[in-house]
Amino acid sequence: MKYRIPKGTVDLYSPHIHYSQAVYSHACHLFTRYGFSEVVTPVFEHTDIFVRSIGESSDIVHKEMYTFNDRSGRSLTLRPEGTAGVVRAYLGNKQTNVDAHQRWFYFGPMFRYERPQKGRYRQFYQLGVEIFGCENPYYDAELIALLAEYIESFQIPEYDLKINNIGCKECRPTYNRQLQEYLSRYTSQLCNDCQYRLSHNPLRVFDCKNKACRQIWEEAPLIHEAACPSCQSHYENALFWLDQLDVSYVQDPFLVRGFDYYTRLVFEFCSNKLGAQDAFLGGGRYDNLVEEFGGKPTPALGASFGVERLILLMKEYEYSAQPDIPFYYFVVFDRENCRQNVPFIQWMRRQGYPVLIGDYNRSLKYQFKEADRKNADYVLIRGENEIAEDTIQVKNIRSSQQDNISLSEFKQQAGSNNT
Ligand code: AMP
Repeated sequence: MKYRIPKGTVDLYSPHIHYSQAVYSHACHLFTRYGFSEVVTPVFEHTDIFVRSIGESSDIVHKEMYTFNDRSGRSLTLRPEGTAGVVRAYLGNKQTNVDAHQRWFYFGPMFRYERPQKGRYRQFYQLGVEIFGCENPYYDAELIALLAEYIESFQIPEYDLKINNIGCKECRPTYNRQLQEYLSRYTSQLCNDCQYRLSHNPLRVFDCKNKACRQIWEEAPLIHEAACPSCQSHYENALFWLDQLDVSYVQDPFLVRGFDYYTRLVFEFCSNKLGAQDAFLGGGRYDNLVEEFGGKPTPALGASFGVERLILLMKEYEYSAQPDIPFYYFVVFDRENCRQNVPFIQWMRRQGYPVLIGDYNRSLKYQFKEADRKNADYVLIRGENEIAEDTIQVKNIRSSQQDNISLSEFKQQAGSNNT
């Protein structure tokens, strides 16, 4: 074939597409109940907003962004994550002057130049939630409880929720120095990436999977122990509310997130069914980001799902994303038979039944085979006799049972199937 799909990308169509439709529609339904509304931002932004928010020394900015100059020489970047664009949109929204508390969710493609593997792509989808203007730790817990409820709506029974306290801009610099001091004792044993991290962004060493580095960082001073009293109290209060909301979690002292903007409580949802890329949802607080973007000091928090990984879990636990209304295939004999049946078929579609109509230029055998290929539940036929007698032939594809029933009975039956 002449043109191949770009590495690390996929085409989405049925039946896979039913899963992402379910992800989006469940989100619209559930998140609305918690006061969220949808926000749609561009897939590209000025490069600067990602560099400043995610951090110059992060892996994403350092080596994974799709950055290009447009025809006027502006540097633009395909968004590697959703939060930065949403914060920019929040600041552009005059509403924030009246009421800082804003709850948004988004769904869309993100782009990172990563090495593709199971659950890791160069274009992937994220479903994200952001809450602005809420300092109270109750909201950290409420957000996590909402995410757990959402996951459970897909009958995913098992996952691990890890949480940690990574402090704020007051206490983190002291911790970073402690960590640097500790790591510099082992510089020569660290991998090249970690040697770079040691001087530029020491927290990132906790992401390193290299065995030798891991042995070193497992003995490092713990970040949550270095948190200031105000971060400690925020974290403890969030734990209190998680308990009240019946959310189970484990505290992971080594959990840090890939972006510089996170503060205080951070979390990740993982599953051992996902292989090496086991995190399918991550988030936390980012209390300084709005201010760093030029806004008033505004505490904020958010999270995002890797949609492909969530779908892997839905499949693993056999969640059925197929719409559960029957799918009909209408076989037509010829042009005239098609003409006579079209008003009825259009009526069915307007009532909400999915109906595919066969091509009258094709043989009956071809149409029956196509019905099978398309996974239809029923084949419908109305020839001269059925039209004269106001009846319809209904063939159940699974059981092969075929009945000739009155049109009014069919309408009644189809009506009860479609509730
Ligand atoms: P992050 O924006 O890095 O915090 O990631 C949030 C979630 O997005 C992760 O938990 C993953 O599930 C997902 N994710 C991140 N990078 C990729 C990728 N390259 N391919 C697929 N999913 C990803």
